[in-house]
Parts: sequence; C-alpha cells; structure tokens
Amino acid sequence: MSNKTLIIGAGGVGNVVAFKCAMNTQTFGEITLASRTISKCDAIAKNVKEKVGVDIQTSSVDADNVPELIKLFKKIQPNIVINVALPYQDLTIMDACVECGIDYLDTANYEHPDTAKFEYKEQWERNDAFKEANIMALLGSGFDPGVTNVFCAYAQKHYFDEIHTIDILDCNAGDHGYPFATNFNPEINLREVSAKGRYWQKNEDGQGEWIETEPMEIMQVWDYPEVGEKDSYLLYHEEMESLVKHIKGLKRIRFFMTFGQSYLTHMKCLENVGMLGIKEVEHKGQKIIPMEFLATLLPDPASLGERTTGKTNIGIYAKGIKDGKEKTVYIYQVSDHEKCYEEVLSQGVSYTTGVPAMIGAKLMLENKWQNKGVYNMEEFDPDPFMEELMVQGLPWQVIEK
Ligand code: NDP
Repeated sequence: MSNKTLIIGAGGVGNVVAFKCAMNTQTFGEITLASRTISKCDAIAKNVKEKVGVDIQTSSVDADNVPELIKLFKKIQPNIVINVALPYQDLTIMDACVECGIDYLDTANYEHPDTAKFEYKEQWERNDAFKEANIMALLGSGFDPGVTNVFCAYAQKHYFDEIHTIDILDCNAGDHGYPFATNFNPEINLREVSAKGRYWQKNEDGQGEWIETEPMEIMQVWDYPEVGEKDSYLLYHEEMESLVKHIKGLKRIRFFMTFGQSYLTHMKCLENVGMLGIKEVEHKGQKIIPMEFLATLLPDPASLGERTTGKTNIGIYAKGIKDGKEKTVYIYQVSDHEKCYEEVLSQGVSYTTGVPAMIGAKLMLENKWQNKGVYNMEEFDPDPFMEELMVQGLPWQVIEK
C-alpha cells in the first residue's frame, strides 16, 4: 500500500520539501501540504504540478493547536509528519503525533516564543512517550543541524578512532541585492545571531563545559573552497548539544557562520534601537512585539530565491587520531543559489534545509533509519544518508590531511 506524507509549513523550506517529496513519490506516496495560510500551500502545489507533474493535496491548520492537528492527522492518516513550520510548533506537533501514533521529523529545536533557549530538553523529554506509542522522532534533519551531524558521524565511522576537535563552518556567500534581509525566517534567524556565543570544551579535569562569549566576539577568517576567504563568527548552534553526547573522545566543538559587514551593521543598529526585542511593547494603545514587526517589514525569505546569486558552503573540520596518528578531515558541501532556484524555485538556504528533511523522512519510510523514541541525526548509520545527499542535489566532498 502506498505511503501518505504530511508536510506542515508552507514557507521557503516547506516549498523545497514539497518539491523533493514529489520527485520521490515512489517513497512518499500521497503528499499533503498544510500550513496556517492555505493560499501559500496552493501556490506551492501549483508550481509542483507544473514543474514535476505531481498532485499535492493542501489543507489549512493551526499547528499551535493540538486538537486541530489531531483532527487533520486522523483525516489524512499519514505515515510521517514532516514539520517545517517554525520551532514554536515542535512540541504541539510532536504531541499530536504521539496521540495518533505517527512518525515525526523536524529541522530545528523547540523554542518558546518568549525565550530563546536553543535546547533539546523538552523534545528529548518526550522519548518515553514516543517509545510507548511505538513511533520515532528524528530531530534536526536540515543542514545545520542535520547534514553537519551526519558529516560528524561519517567522519567518526570512516576516518577516526577518536575525534578531538570539530569546527562546524557555515558560509552563505549569496547576494540578494537588498541592504538587509534574512535567508530564513527573520525572527528565528535574528534570535540566533544576536544571542551570546557559546562553545564546548573539556577542562583540565576532563569535564565538558560551555564557554560563553559576547555576540560576534570571536572571529576567524576561513578559506571556503569555491567561495574564498570569509570572516566567520563564533555562534552557539543547537547541533553541538547532541554532538557532545555522541562523538567519541571529543575535547572541543565550535560553530562558525559568515556574515558580511552590511548585515552586522544593520543588525547592531536594529538591536541598539530595540527592534530585536521579543517582549511586548505598547505603541499607541496597541501591543506589538518589535521582532515580529521587523519580520513584517523585511523581505519574505521565500521571495529571495529569484534574485539570489552566489554559493553556500557548509561543512565540518575535524581533527583527531587514526591508528595512533594525528589526522584532519574536512567534509563540505557547496550549493549554488541560482541552480537551486532553477530546480525548485527556492534560494540555497531553503534548498539545503529542505533536501535533508526529505532525505531523513525517506530513510525513515524505507526503514533504513528506524527505531522507537526520539533521536538526533548522528545516532544513525551515516552511510545511507550520505549516499542520498549525492543523488538528491547536495553532493559533498572530503579533504583528508
Ligand atoms: P518561513 O517563515 O518561510 O515558513 C514557516 C511556515 O510555517 C510559514 O508558511 C508559516 O505559516 C508556517 N507556520 C507558522 N506558524 C504556524 C502555525 N501555528 N500553524 C501552521 N503553520 C505555521 O520559515 P522557513 O521555511 O525559512 O523555515 C522553516 C523551518 O526550518 C524553521 O523551523 C527554521 O528554523 C528551520 N530551518 C532549519 C535550518 C537547518 O539547517 N536546520 C535552516 C533554515 C531553517 P503561513 O502558512 O501563515 O505562512
């Protein structure tokens, strides 16, 4: 019997997931795309039909509302729910999946709308509920988190006895021509980059500890293959929380992301005047959240595709020991914004997130990645995922030193 797939969220990433699932209908079967705004789902379904020739059903749903989700799940009876709405909806969608006995996948960890925490705690706490319901949740199946976790697992499996240090390196050298815009949801993006930096290392007693830095305090210039030298800033990023638990012998892990000067200057200025605030303020008798208002003013990330040129390069740089000798391995993937747009009408950041979401779901439906409970990406065999990346649009490279 054919599978049924439900995608929630009709933004930039949802568009790519819809396209890529439609290109793999032998696995995904009947596809439904649901979001708060059904017209966005219909527009994506129309494009998929025109370009790929596959029909996608659409539906509206408020994913903050568990009973509404349960009603939709019972009607569609999907084998899997791919959550590419916002991180605020992770827990409600997970709870509805438990209630209905359906596998779950997402690309970003849960966040409470009022506090930016970037932690897996509340999702990991649902492990027993998922086990009891005999279903699986795969957390963080985007690029970072997602492919970066798989790159680490692949390095551990094929290149090292022990990995000592990992630097995750995320470069977007795309140019959309606007003085300031974010490549994915502005609220989530600006919360992430305006937060304090953090990295993990083992202290002299061998205990792991998180070291906090001021936002953008640590910068290093990195020479990205096919892109060139770029200023890269240390940020906290969620995949580090699970990688420190699962990578053998790790002594330090850091995450760096590139930013241009124009982006940083705009962000600082917006922060200084309070526009990045996530607490309500009163304006002429109306309550508004500055960050939400800013998101309304900024270009919709889904609209950047058509005008973005340049490349992304995301990878991991790992050092460690193999057969008693020191070794360095750099695994990376380069995507071209214009090629992504040509294929699925999206820029590279949505593309590099949506393709791994589809691959994670494909491996779950094909029983190549299956277990009961809540899992992060590096807990599974990286090989089938790495093979899929090669054929589904995200070919990668390894440099061994
Ligand atoms: P967008 O803002 O473009 O899209 C989000 C979509 O979710 C919108 O279509 C929106 O609704 C829908 N949505 C929001 N709230 C609800 C709700 N209550 N009920 C139903 N639908 C809702 O975001 P992106 O596509 O850029 O990002 C999607 C996800 O991917 C985010 O969680 C983001 O953090 C993650 N991400 C992960 C990356 C990774 O590498 N791991 C990289 C980039 C993004 P509406 O229908 O009204 O438009």
